[in-house]
Amino acid sequence: MFDLKTPIEELYLVGPARAKLLKRLGISTLSDLLFYFPRTHQDLSKFTFIADLKLADQANIKGRILDVKTFRTKVRRFTLTHALVEDDTGSILCVWFNQPFLTKVLKKNESFIFSGKVSVTKNKLQLQNPVYEQEKLEQIHTSRLVPLYPLTANLTQKQLRSIIKTYLDKIVIPEYLPSEIIKDEGLLDENKAIKTFHFPQDLPALTQAQNRLAFDEIFQTQLRVLQSKKTREHKHIHAINLAVDLEQKIKTLPFELTAGQRQALKEIISDFQKPFPANRLLEGDVGSGKTIIAALTMWLIAKNGLQAALLAPTEILALQHYTSLMQLFKNDEINISLHTSNHKTEIGQIAVGTHALLEKQVKFRNLALIVIDEQHRFGVEQRSILKQVNNAHLLTMSATPIPRTLALTLYGDLDLSRLKESPAGRQKIITKIVAEANRTKAYEFIAKQIAGGRQVFVICPLIEEPARLNDISRSGGSDKLGVKSATQEYQKLANEIFPQFEVGLLHGKLKPSEKEMVMQAFKDNQINILVSTSVIEVGVDVPNTSVMMIEGAERFGLAQLHQFRGRVGRSEHKSYCLLFSDDPQVLNNPRLQALVESSDGFELAEKDLQIRGSGDLYGTKQSGYDFRIANLNNLDLVERSRSYAETLLNQDVSLKNYPLLKQKLDQQPLVHLE
Ligand code: ADP
Ligand code: MG
Repeated sequence: MFDLKTPIEELYLVGPARAKLLKRLGISTLSDLLFYFPRTHQDLSKFTFIADLKLADQANIKGRILDVKTFRTKVRRFTLTHALVEDDTGSILCVWFNQPFLTKVLKKNESFIFSGKVSVTKNKLQLQNPVYEQEKLEQIHTSRLVPLYPLTANLTQKQLRSIIKTYLDKIVIPEYLPSEIIKDEGLLDENKAIKTFHFPQDLPALTQAQNRLAFDEIFQTQLRVLQSKKTREHKHIHAINLAVDLEQKIKTLPFELTAGQRQALKEIISDFQKPFPANRLLEGDVGSGKTIIAALTMWLIAKNGLQAALLAPTEILALQHYTSLMQLFKNDEINISLHTSNHKTEIGQIAVGTHALLEKQVKFRNLALIVIDEQHRFGVEQRSILKQVNNAHLLTMSATPIPRTLALTLYGDLDLSRLKESPAGRQKIITKIVAEANRTKAYEFIAKQIAGGRQVFVICPLIEEPARLNDISRSGGSDKLGVKSATQEYQKLANEIFPQFEVGLLHGKLKPSEKEMVMQAFKDNQINILVSTSVIEVGVDVPNTSVMMIEGAERFGLAQLHQFRGRVGRSEHKSYCLLFSDDPQVLNNPRLQALVESSDGFELAEKDLQIRGSGDLYGTKQSGYDFRIANLNNLDLVERSRSYAETLLNQDVSLKNYPLLKQKLDQQPLVHLE
């Protein structure tokens, strides 16, 4: 006896050796086996008459066996099996190597189907090593749409196909979907869909099965995210009684909030008035002004006698947030603390820090809000620590654009606020690919910008190359990797190109205190040109800068380049992004071209997707979701399944009336970004 939960090693036809192979494919129960879907189907549904066969055809023939014999070759001593097969139009020889048992399988005068490639030997067409099946039995390997599975070494399509088919025939897969949904959506039932998806009668049937299974994937995802959302909404925390007037504070800001910022702020604050923890994502392109929203929110929390924490992915960013909050709240009597590997202080009402803030010994008294800046930069581990902080509101911020379907699926348990426009008065950043011949001109341009009071970033891909450190004379040329190191570049700029200016160097290997000093000097405009690495990729905000110069630009990803560029153009000053490369072909680089043409993060993300083919732009893999069949671009389907899921959970949040459905969700729990 067996059921869907039976371990595969207990299945007849499997056995220990094969069970091991199947486990390599992630199959450990009968259910896994039946849900191990083909990657594609080979269409062997059409037959060719023997007389019509042509060399190199992948052909399917149906014929009677006239003669079978197996013999040893004289020369290299392997066995050959010959079967002569005829249909109404002619005859052909089928040939197999080293399969002497075939003499017993292929019976004379019986009808078989053969499927294989037509080759030629001694001027005669033949089929070499064709797949064969007896005509009077049901065909699974030939003469139909034949499933092809992802395999592993020592397991053949034929073996896997036979095992799957055997058990598909022996079991009825129970329906787990509520019948109303099946009816409304016109879906096949689960049993039919699974069986058809493996062994479809024809293409329309395959499509129908696919539709059902795609629905399953999306619907289950919706249930998971919505369930997680509802579970959160059932956790009780005290609503925050907002006793302090935020408008007063807003009036003191050096700028007017944009309508989008006001809207986002309103949404976040309305979360606090609910009696359960919020989980909101604030999404807005680089430079759109997310920080001030977080700052005002934390101000409100602190003024209400509660604590807020702000997490940043790098020390540099944590420090920047700390200093700007100190400045912003200097008249507010709010105790702000900084927590990095270099600063371990008492927790303040607002605690700013890196992941150092997540360490166990850091104790909050009444933490009400956690803000995570550049959320995608945090690792899975750090996210899981945050998950354990049950009773605080969570606000994550990201510049990564998410298409609507993904917002509803991957991020479907979050509430979303979007900043669509940037603050007024910003000018479009001029982006140029600069040919090596124009380098001097570019330096002259930079000198002019600095003379006009502006500041400049220079980005280099590597930290340093020990062998070349003292060899400044050669630093202008390209090194082995064709990449200029930041240290070399710094020395070159400071000593040779811009001796009249202050040049600073910032990279990840500096001591935290050195990083702080450099960053502060740059903010205070005591440094004109900051040479750096990707440590300043995210978040860094020095509005007085107007030039972002990137060396070895072709070595960075498009998203990264867009982030770098976002370091400038953060005020009313006209800003420039200059892309350099040691590669003369760089003018044709599609990524750099895309960057020149567009300044819209959303558009660039889509271009990136096109350039890279598929890829994992939105972190789908990381999220633990596995869409094998469904196409996530199907917004309509996503929205419909979401509404079914919502209706269902509203009636029965724990799904106690739908045990099969519950079981399915438990099999693949939600691994979420937050
Ligand atoms: P990001 O969304 O990339 O985190 P920031 O929050 O760092 O962007 O904001 C970018 C710059 O714009 C900062 O210098 C900030 O002070 C400024 N800023 C934010 N909001 C406004 C606004 N409404 N008007 C003018 N400048 C603003
Ligand atoms: Mg930011």
